[in-house]
Amino acid sequence: MLANRTGDNPLKPDIESFRRRITSELTQVGDSFAPAQGAATAALLDLSSTGLPFMDVIAQPAMDESARERLELRRRKLQAALARINAGTFGCCCECEAYIEPERLESDPGTVFCFDCITERDAEAARRDGRHY
Ligand SMILES: [Zn+2]
Repeated sequence: MLANRTGDNPLKPDIESFRRRITSELTQVGDSFAPAQGAATAALLDLSSTGLPFMDVIAQPAMDESARERLELRRRKLQAALARINAGTFGCCCECEAYIEPERLESDPGTVFCFDCITERDAEAARRDGRHY
């Protein structure tokens, strides 16, 4: 074990276990894409037989769409995390390059910001959303 190579992350995450975790979650996300699309299509095909008012029916695909967007976001986040693992930068904050707290990586391997930076960004996003809506 080369525990202390120069430039290594002192809080070095267990890269291989994170790689496995991310890969398997990516598979899950990929799997849930296909059935979601199938379900939306099935809902549309059912339209003619349900006799539901148009507005009731249209609400369903809209929900599927936002679920799909969340999945797509998640997938991109996980793919980016894998890329960082391959690049050797996994576990470093994208904003300030500090090491991300291990427990944060543990709870979400797709995390790209340290606690300080995510707090900052959340506050910013909240301000943005406040303006937007
Ligand atoms: Zn940071």
